[in-house]
Amino acid sequence: MTDQAFAALGLAPEIVLALSEQGYRVPTPVQQQAVPAILAGRDVLVAAQTGTGKTAGFVCPLLDRLTAGPAVGINQVRALILVPTRELAVQVHMAVRTYGQHLNLRSMAAFGGVKINPQMMQLRRGVDVLVATPGRLLDLAAQNAVTFGLLEMLVLDEADRMLDLGFSRELDAIVRQLPRRRQTLMFSATFPAGVRQLASLLVHNPLEIIVDPEQTTAANVKQWICPVDKKRKPALLVHLILEYYATQLMVFTNTKQGADQLTRFLQAAGISAAAIHGDRSQGQRMEALRLFKQQGFQVLVATDVAARGLDIEQLPQVVNFDLPKVAENYIHRIGRTGRAGAAGEAISLVSADEIDALKAIEQLVQQVLPREYVEDFFPDHQVPASPPVFGPARPKKPKKPKKPQEPYQAATGTPAATGAAPARGRQAAAGRYKGKVEGKAAGKHTDKDTVKGKDAAKDPAAKRPNKGGPKARRPGKNARHAARPPS
Ligand code: AMP
Repeated sequence: MTDQAFAALGLAPEIVLALSEQGYRVPTPVQQQAVPAILAGRDVLVAAQTGTGKTAGFVCPLLDRLTAGPAVGINQVRALILVPTRELAVQVHMAVRTYGQHLNLRSMAAFGGVKINPQMMQLRRGVDVLVATPGRLLDLAAQNAVTFGLLEMLVLDEADRMLDLGFSRELDAIVRQLPRRRQTLMFSATFPAGVRQLASLLVHNPLEIIVDPEQTTAANVKQWICPVDKKRKPALLVHLILEYYATQLMVFTNTKQGADQLTRFLQAAGISAAAIHGDRSQGQRMEALRLFKQQGFQVLVATDVAARGLDIEQLPQVVNFDLPKVAENYIHRIGRTGRAGAAGEAISLVSADEIDALKAIEQLVQQVLPREYVEDFFPDHQVPASPPVFGPARPKKPKKPKKPQEPYQAATGTPAATGAAPARGRQAAAGRYKGKVEGKAAGKHTDKDTVKGKDAAKDPAAKRPNKGGPKARRPGKNARHAARPPS
């Protein structure tokens, strides 16, 4: 059954075997569409975000095509996968190794922040698949450590992010060195003008594939916002973690400083946490990520740049501590949860000054996000009501460019990590923190049926729908969440 589903796409038995060893049963929508087209040698232009299975969607047919053809010579590369971040390079390279484990192909990842010499040595023998970030690739090319004369395939993963990070010039410089006759696969979560312009230069007569985010992340991710005053966000987050979220979660901030401050705040509350953003070394970031994956600490605080492309399996909750300034990043962020069909929850702590960002996000995801209030954290400054959403629910189809657009530089810089505090006892943490967060662990319930927490099942009030009407009262002693703002 498994074998048939992937074999039917035309993939080689060695790759089908690797996929079944991963436990994949059926191809995801993007795999269904992209794999046969890529195997047939077509260029593809794919609108898909992380979480859709897009990586396997391009890695598997790419490996398949490389099984035929000449062996690589010194410093040669046959397939180049360009990615925006070091973390994504590692992750995509893992996918190459995993899906290609029964094939005899050489691969490597090349990214900055680590010594270049070992990468140069590794490239000497040539590689079939090179996964690289643009800056390091150019450095390697400048030193003649890599040559592209035999390049057959180019993949651009997360093209929108590449432009966000200001890689436009590097991409130009790289593409100028590549043979014109090649197969090009381009993936992007969003298609602003800059990406469309890039696509018009890179792909030829592509098959355009659009994966509706609602089929992937949004459908199985419960999204809600929690209005709160800005200064009280850290305490609210601590409260939510101590009260509801015993599992690991990822928290997004907009700035590096914000990530560090919040991490310290969480650690002071006895919650084990670490941050990844651009000020820490590559080694420290990788170590933080490795520890997180091994459940070494509970909360990973990240900026958008650092988090892009990270594949952390079965992350049940994602928290937007700040709403992203670029609405598309909301989709990238919630792509961390509800992956590959698992249920997830995305909570955004929203203060009154973030109303414009909220409106933009709600238009983008085509829904007014449900609001839930947490007792003791009702905002003094109300978040204004959202206007109704309008327009098409699907992501924009990639279009022909009207005019080129300069990509902008990333505003917040890149990732770094703070040290992870050792996990401490939750009881102790709760005790130490009670006064500060003003939330008590016992005896609180919500009047919403979306109530979380162990006490909910015991209290009939917890299951009662909110009957408060538009001017609902502040929930009483036994209410934790209220569906509407207090009047
Ligand atoms: P991606 O969108 O490439 O970041 O993939 C998201 C997650 O889905 C990764 O953890 C993959 O291992 C997983 N995945 C990819 N394809 C499948 C599939 N056909 N069935 C189940 N999981 C998959």
